[in-house]
Amino acid sequence: MVKFYNTMSRKLEEFIPGGVKKDSIDEYPPVSIYSCGPTVYGLAHIGNFRTFLFNDILRRFLKFRGFTVNHSMNITDVDDKTIKGAAAEGISLKEYTTRFTDIFFEDLKKLNIEDFEHYPRATESIDSMNDIINRLNSKDLVYRDGNSLYFSISKYDKYGKLSRIDPDAIKSGTRYDTDEYHKDDIRDFALWKEVEPDEQGWDIDMGHGRPGWHIECSAMIRKIYNSTIDIHTGGVDLVFPHHENEIAQSEAAYDEPFVRYWLHAEHLLVDNSKMSKSKGNFFTLNDLLEKGYPARSVRYLLMTAHYRKQFNFTLENLENAEQPLSRIDNIVELCLRSKKTGPVRPAVKDRISSLLDEFTTSLNHDLNISGAIGHLFEAVTDFNKIYNEDSFSKEEAESVIEVFKKIDTVLGFIFFKEKKSSQLSDEEIETYISRRNSAKSEKKWDEADSIRDLLLDKGIVLEDSKDGTRWKMV
Ligand SMILES: [Zn+2]
Repeated sequence: MVKFYNTMSRKLEEFIPGGVKKDSIDEYPPVSIYSCGPTVYGLAHIGNFRTFLFNDILRRFLKFRGFTVNHSMNITDVDDKTIKGAAAEGISLKEYTTRFTDIFFEDLKKLNIEDFEHYPRATESIDSMNDIINRLNSKDLVYRDGNSLYFSISKYDKYGKLSRIDPDAIKSGTRYDTDEYHKDDIRDFALWKEVEPDEQGWDIDMGHGRPGWHIECSAMIRKIYNSTIDIHTGGVDLVFPHHENEIAQSEAAYDEPFVRYWLHAEHLLVDNSKMSKSKGNFFTLNDLLEKGYPARSVRYLLMTAHYRKQFNFTLENLENAEQPLSRIDNIVELCLRSKKTGPVRPAVKDRISSLLDEFTTSLNHDLNISGAIGHLFEAVTDFNKIYNEDSFSKEEAESVIEVFKKIDTVLGFIFFKEKKSSQLSDEEIETYISRRNSAKSEKKWDEADSIRDLLLDKGIVLEDSKDGTRWKMV
């Protein structure tokens, strides 16, 4: 049974997509997930990527368990920061946000984060914002000040249930005009904001302007899913006011629950303090790659801690991440080199099935990733012991690789493909193979072996048979 800690109830709850319990996982409807994505006004930092990796693990694990997922992450391409950034450079909002959106997607790929099903843009969901605002207005929850529209919190008595904010703290009629907020200070928030004459704006029934930040997510969720969604994720800093405001707008507009499970990822610290450019502890992904750290180590390190725990990132930890990864690489390589035939020993078979059980049980429990990774390394130790007693047969090696591949559909760091420009093309691989074949025919065994090893280092395995040599990627 999969359980998640729901921020709404502050409890661990059984995960039931669609809200109706079924006899088996394949009977459930696709799991609808919405993750608050980046505001594309600059480069995302590694704290952001920790949260995006949490989203990745979440969807990968649900698929591993047999659910299908229908996952969205928004791109906030209009807000105070993006407008300011575009104006400062004297370029259009679109040109400005496209640049950072492209880099963001490249970074996701470098970290082996899976493609989600939808990447909605705020600017493409204006029609849904219009619908929400009209509905709220018909319920007398909207008021106007100049050309801006505000949500009146004091008229909505269910406000505050996610963050458990004290409703008495509501300063009725006081407003936030910017998208930046002070923690714990409840004020009416802008649904639709006045624009300067030279600023880009959109028309909705209640006037010309641009969206407030919170309504963007409510609108995109409505547009894609059209009803209650299963999971909403985001960083813990979004619980209040962003997610609280999303709930208020969506539930008041549509009179149905907005979200079943709220999952929030904790902050990342760097050198035990909050990342900041002035402290010199602010890292983008490329900062780390340029220092020579592999993207694989970054992925591994950022996902080792449970998503609800603060994680302290240091360059030393990142350096140390290469050691456990090479332990895995070593056992994988032993497997790939195993050639003798023979049965699968019970010790190997049992260890494979206990690994799979332990891994699944850990993740079932609110995505206990550190537990799951711990079980993987215990199994690596045991596989090495078994191997040292007597090396693997080809059949044993294949079954070990198979379980690693299955586990790696969640972890994504065992068979991590570094996006290197030095990756070989098919033609280059064929050239190596024919060089190896001529070395073999000239009985230059060392040369033949060194070519095989070189290809293996690049993740290419050769299989010799009487019909010639075939290759495959691992
Ligand atoms: Zn959001």
